[in-house]
Amino acid sequence: MNDSRMCKLLSAKEFGFGICPFVTISPEITETELEAQIKALTELAELSDIPIDGMVVRFDELSYSQSLGRTGHHYNDGIAYKFEDDMYETIFRSIEWQTGRTGEIAPVAIFDTVEIDGCEVSRASLHNLSFIKNLELHPGCRILVSKRNMIIPHVEENLDRGKYQDMIPRTCPCCNQETRIYSRTVEKDRIVETLHCDKPECPDRILQQFVHFTEKKAMNIKGISEATLARLIELGYLKTFHDLYHLDRYREEIIALDGFGVKSYEKMQAAINESRNTTFSRYLVAMDIPMIGRTASRELERHFNGSLREFELAAMDRFDFTCLQGFGETMHDNIHEWFHDSDHILLWRTLQKEFNFEERKEDNTMTENKNNPFAGCTIVATGKLEHFTRDGINSKIISLGATAGSSVTKKTDYLICGEKAGSKLAKAQELGITILTEQQFMDMISA
Ligand SMILES: [Zn+2]
Repeated sequence: MNDSRMCKLLSAKEFGFGICPFVTISPEITETELEAQIKALTELAELSDIPIDGMVVRFDELSYSQSLGRTGHHYNDGIAYKFEDDMYETIFRSIEWQTGRTGEIAPVAIFDTVEIDGCEVSRASLHNLSFIKNLELHPGCRILVSKRNMIIPHVEENLDRGKYQDMIPRTCPCCNQETRIYSRTVEKDRIVETLHCDKPECPDRILQQFVHFTEKKAMNIKGISEATLARLIELGYLKTFHDLYHLDRYREEIIALDGFGVKSYEKMQAAINESRNTTFSRYLVAMDIPMIGRTASRELERHFNGSLREFELAAMDRFDFTCLQGFGETMHDNIHEWFHDSDHILLWRTLQKEFNFEERKEDNTMTENKNNPFAGCTIVATGKLEHFTRDGINSKIISLGATAGSSVTKKTDYLICGEKAGSKLAKAQELGITILTEQQFMDMISA
């Protein structure tokens, strides 16, 4: 490689572009040497935890590359070499439709069981209606299934295209409400169609809203299962989130239920009451404003000093949320839209009365802020840590006056890296972000 090329690579990297690991080979390379290079790159990917499904061989000379021209589909200056053994052929059987808490009905492919990396797989998300149409799926067709990033089953290809069959249900699988198809435009003017149940009282929607509300990252009500929630909703004891905190009205009825009893009732009540001691960010996650999850809620808690009232005023006014770390236009719009719905405001204000909000420990934060090098930085943690849970490390980061990021970007200052770190480590290396071991991080705090 000559110097000018090296220069270009460095500047691309400096601009924040990721450079994929590569090796330089000569056109006279022998087959054995080529195989050895492919093996070396594959091993490098495995060592760096970069998910890999193939590689590309390309001429390292721009003018020569351009002289080779292109087809309608690809440029002629390189070839893609895709590993075959990641794909598994099976037979697609049907689609299961699941109504979620927003009313979007998610399609799941059901296919004949295949074993991938020692796991039996027979289902995979089909994402949306456009994805199904693009794959031209029909019952009985042969499909190729992989495990994306070695975790998530994914339908990659249909080997029997040309016989697409409309399998879209006309009514909600849960409540029979007529379904509606929504279209939205995503990047490159691509249109994505999704299926929806628009009935706010749809039992599956309500159940999933309660599941979200009680989840660990939201109100963290331990020991109330989805099945119990479903039962209490069906009996009409749970209609709104308030009802969860007044189940004592149905004490006798619940105790008399099959499989319940005084003990399970009291255990459930204890768990619910425990959740009354909560925080700004848990409460905000529980409200389920689209795209406002745990990281965003923590950033809002930090910015508004843990004051729900201050945040509410900002949201009702024209506060510019894009000035906060990690907030884009859509999140900004989502917050303002949510607070423009009077039902939401009523819920937001009245439900607060059920909770004791932990005071933010400002004084402690201040003293920690003074003596640590991380104040004002954005820190991401990845991999398995020895001294912290994922929640624990994020709370620690916040207590240092820093921001806990969920993904590695150009704005990330530090990556704290534990065992079995994956793609975040690779990304941080690409972007030249300072990488700390857990021990280095702890040493720097206590120094
Ligand atoms: Zn429905």
